[in-house]
Amino acid sequence: MDSDHVSESNSFKLLCANSLVVVLIGPGGVGKGTVARRLLELDPRMWLSRSWTTREPRPTETGDEYFFVTRNAFEDAVAQDYFYEWAEFHGNLYGTPRPNPPDDRDVLLEIEVEGARQVRERDPEAVIILLTAPTIELLEQRLRGRGDHEEHILRRLDSTRREIERGRQLSDYEVVNDDIERASHQILSILEGLRQSRRIPS
Ligand code: 5GP
Repeated sequence: MDSDHVSESNSFKLLCANSLVVVLIGPGGVGKGTVARRLLELDPRMWLSRSWTTREPRPTETGDEYFFVTRNAFEDAVAQDYFYEWAEFHGNLYGTPRPNPPDDRDVLLEIEVEGARQVRERDPEAVIILLTAPTIELLEQRLRGRGDHEEHILRRLDSTRREIERGRQLSDYEVVNDDIERASHQILSILEGLRQSRRIPS
């Protein structure tokens, strides 16, 4: 993939001063999606972006998880500069449309590490949180529970260590997902601290 596809012309800051751009990264099976959904329930300020992907829906998915599109449709959107960030991951394309949240909402992106790198390049103040699992065995168990093909699971496990290493270099915070409630509340308190410290004095 061309890692320099973030052009100068669309390098812009997303939101007003008091809003946050929160990027949740972490290896497959770590529970990013579940934690992201829990954050939305717990914090009405959070607004979750819905990504595009060229991968097939999983048997366990309802169709709301992504906009599932063809590679042609995705590539057309890239050509029209539609995405805030995009990346190829294990043979499929994933991208975040330029977010357009309601006023005063914080944007939550649940993406892989190359996309997070692009977000950081555009917005140095974006908060990148790496979610990790207590053990690799637990990750494997969770990946298997999603109904992916065995070959896909093995490839994902193979890249897990690299994803964690890259994630550590990029992230501002690391949160262990040993328990969804605990991890979600830890993230919320990180965000609350940031909101306080970034608040513009009136
Ligand atoms: P999955 O196929 O398991 O749903 O997602 C594979 C990886 O792509 C996950 O790490 C997920 O967070 C990431 N991903 C989902 N949406 C996006 C996106 O819009 N952009 C990028 N860069 N990664 C994404």
